[in-house]
Amino acid sequence: MGKQRTPVLTRRQVEDLARFRPIPYLVTTLYLDIDRTVPGGRARPGALKGLLREARAGLEARNLTRKQRQSVEADLGVLERIARDTPARGGKAVAAFVASGADWEQVFDLPWPVKSRLLIGETPSVRVLAAALDEHPRYLVVLTDRARARLVGVHLGRAHQLRELASDVPGQVSEGGYRGNAERGIGRHIEDHVGKHIQKVAEAAREAFGERDFDGLVLGGPAETVAALRDGLSPALRPHLAGEVPVEVTAPLDQVAAACETLAVAGRATRDAGLIDRLVEAVEATGTGVTGLAATLGALRRGAVASLLVAGDYDQPGLTCPECGFLSAGDEKDCPACGCGGMRPVPYLVREIVDRATETGAQTWHISSEPARRRLEARGAIGALLRFRLI
Ligand SMILES: [Zn+2]
Repeated sequence: MGKQRTPVLTRRQVEDLARFRPIPYLVTTLYLDIDRTVPGGRARPGALKGLLREARAGLEARNLTRKQRQSVEADLGVLERIARDTPARGGKAVAAFVASGADWEQVFDLPWPVKSRLLIGETPSVRVLAAALDEHPRYLVVLTDRARARLVGVHLGRAHQLRELASDVPGQVSEGGYRGNAERGIGRHIEDHVGKHIQKVAEAAREAFGERDFDGLVLGGPAETVAALRDGLSPALRPHLAGEVPVEVTAPLDQVAAACETLAVAGRATRDAGLIDRLVEAVEATGTGVTGLAATLGALRRGAVASLLVAGDYDQPGLTCPECGFLSAGDEKDCPACGCGGMRPVPYLVREIVDRATETGAQTWHISSEPARRRLEARGAIGALLRFRLI
């Protein structure tokens, strides 16, 4: 992956990041909020300084090799440089992942604010990115009427035009111009052209959707042409249809983005409710689900987690074994797995769980819409759908 700075953020990138492990080096992760209230936008110097100071102090207590320590110390310098370069790029925050020993860095400019934090671990800490992707699906929006069409990409609250199509459709017959058979003939002629236009748009949608990493397809425009386009979509594209938005073909990009946001909120509420229904059924009926921190950790250790469900940004401190990586929600002094006597505190246990689950190929869902969130909180705020039944 080398060194990269990119304004685009896709699910595939986050999955690749989560799997990156530059043995024997560690990865330093920085999420930094940019203060837009300062003219020109500037990372709050105090925030970064505080994070760096804490990180340096934390290094003393960690059991690192000389190589690892040198790499992390270099990372902190690189992050200072990245934070300095960030405001000019116009984002609201930055996510940076650095492993200097492996000559590797990835930087993402984020269009939404984040809670500033700095973390050092064996892999990049992607939870904040994963949650944001979950909140803001990447849509391909296809707006079409009888003669024109626009393809718009919407991602993280921003819309950008991808393509415009205009078909040569004869104008509608004006009143009093044609009569009887002649009018019906011309009507058919126009419908042929509209049909070809819709085919062209469906083909353009198929191409555009295949090229990029979209999460869903959204249609907009007059009801009649939207219905025709829906029928004309390729079978491969149909399952990706996320919904329709009430915007005209000529709508400004801001309006397209806002309509997609509304659609995403509604879609999330439906999806969250469905996930909690599945979890409850898996726990109570089929035995392929668990809820609560201890049971979820147990399932994760056995590689059984297919999907992880977390209520909002729920987290709590826990313990980890520095020797074997065992995670615990309890208060053991000795590691239950390898017996070594030095369990260490971790401030964000759930984040560790999410990162590990992602590494095993599990998907994490942050349940933030009501009433789904309250339903999950009532069951311990975390749960998992399992790949197999635990005996
Ligand atoms: Zn251990």
